[in-house]
Amino acid sequence: MTFTLDATAVDSAARGGTLRLARATVATPAFMPVGTRGSVRTQAPDQVASLGVRLVLANTYHLVQRPGLEVLRRVGGLARWMDWDGAVLTDSGGFQVFSLAHACTIDDTGARFRPHRDGPTVTLTPESAIAAQEAIGSDVMMVLDHCVAATSDRAITAAAMARTHAWAARSLTARRDHERRLFAIVQGGGHAELRRTSADSLTAQGGFDGYAIGGLAVGEPRAQREDLTALVADRLPRDRPRYLMGVGTPIDLLEGVHRGVDLFDCILPTAMAQQGVAFTSIGRVELRRSVYAGDDGPLDPACPCPACARLPRSYLHHLIKTAEPTGWSLLAFHNLRFYVELMATVRAAIAEHRFAALYRTLRPVLEADDPAHPPGPAPRPTRARARSRGAFAIEPIDDTAELGRIRHVASGETMPSIDDAEATAARRYLAQSSAFARALAGAPLVIWDVGLGAAHDALALVAALDRAPGHGAVELVSFERDLDALALALAHPRAFPHLRHPAPHRLLARDEFRRPGLTWTLRRGDALDALATAPAPDLIWWDPWSPSIDASMWSAAAFTAVAARLTRPCELILAARSAAVHAALIAAGFDVANGIARR
Ligand SMILES: [Zn+2]
Repeated sequence: MTFTLDATAVDSAARGGTLRLARATVATPAFMPVGTRGSVRTQAPDQVASLGVRLVLANTYHLVQRPGLEVLRRVGGLARWMDWDGAVLTDSGGFQVFSLAHACTIDDTGARFRPHRDGPTVTLTPESAIAAQEAIGSDVMMVLDHCVAATSDRAITAAAMARTHAWAARSLTARRDHERRLFAIVQGGGHAELRRTSADSLTAQGGFDGYAIGGLAVGEPRAQREDLTALVADRLPRDRPRYLMGVGTPIDLLEGVHRGVDLFDCILPTAMAQQGVAFTSIGRVELRRSVYAGDDGPLDPACPCPACARLPRSYLHHLIKTAEPTGWSLLAFHNLRFYVELMATVRAAIAEHRFAALYRTLRPVLEADDPAHPPGPAPRPTRARARSRGAFAIEPIDDTAELGRIRHVASGETMPSIDDAEATAARRYLAQSSAFARALAGAPLVIWDVGLGAAHDALALVAALDRAPGHGAVELVSFERDLDALALALAHPRAFPHLRHPAPHRLLARDEFRRPGLTWTLRRGDALDALATAPAPDLIWWDPWSPSIDASMWSAAAFTAVAARLTRPCELILAARSAAVHAALIAAGFDVANGIARR
């Protein structure tokens, strides 16, 4: 038996098990550190082993590209080559079909990737992906799958799913070495009924040693991911391990366990370390922030790792600010330890039938920010700040909340026009865009944010990117004629909590905010003039004031000026019921389609 189920939780789908592999025995639920190219970033194999980790992940596509299978066959496989005394699970390359979509052509035979930099062309078929994983020396192999964005429409998703099922059958036939386990991958995008079909169809095929849930953590809202995970896990065979691919933050792991998942992998612990982010027993700590320059306390008082036990936060802050690799390595080790310990805590609770209580205790902790230094600008001394500026005034959203919105005094129009502005921005401008989904997976992206306003939409983007350290280079260009609305909102952080981030302050002061992977620039003045010199976009958010305040921005002439600037396919997202606006868009050459409706 590959997998035995040792304990199941009460009031939860959580379960504890034992996964037996040729080179290791793994207690589940377990987290697998990611060594995409054969190295867990900044960590020597004995450091990883010292945490009790027995299984790490490597990526077939990247290893086929470099060093190539000839080298891996010559040296007797990856584990031996990198001196890893544990087991290796390999992703098949199916995720790269999605993340490198711009460089990949796919049909029923397989996927062909155009060369990356000076690398070779890589072709993966179900059969060659198995052969490659055997050459890598994988203990757990994944079938080649066809992953699409969670926002893809039903027809595209169903076709990719059918292809994934056919490829799974071919992978079973291609497998020669039964000591190596083979997992199928459930697809179905964001469509619940396709997810059901995929789980049932792959279960009916039989012959797989485990089941992965793929195609999630690609930009869909967290609640949707959790619902689909629960739906799929519930239909998979109880006696096979379940692996949720590419997920996630510590809270995501806890939620996954609660829904019946046994295995996780994610680059976050090591990738976030490079951004100075530490996951701790008291919440998330962002060591880049200047407040830590004066904090000589331990990073996590409950952690015995070298960073926490021997170094003050001020020194770790210094290492991150000066981009010293030692800082990345120390934080990566701390983060990996936090993940591994979290899974050990969870396993013990499941075995002792107290998982539900642990779940309730841990959730708020895992979602917390450092309580000593909550993010956002320090509260200023109490001096009544003006509630109006220029054409704008702040009004409370309702009688009880501190939250506010900006009113354009002359017209009475408010911004946001509804209460839950951040969720709406994420829903309307992020969840609907396939270009944004590709950016989360690594593709470059230029966005025009036409009508910055109080920066609700822009901050929804920045927050989403902050949570996705593997994202591609994003260039956000915001257009705004009257910056009084943003200045007013920034002066009232209690009323506008979405602005508790350094980026909007920097943008208003310098017309520019930069961090690795993100450039956010401000174009002041008339948007239709400014867009003539902006870089051509992949995605446009059109959110100026309404036609009754600013009719010129909703005219055919405006959209024609936009269209003239496009050099490649571009998505334009706006909210307008007016047939005149639809006609203006069509006249300018845009295809018009319905999107997600306002709640
Ligand atoms: Zn630590």
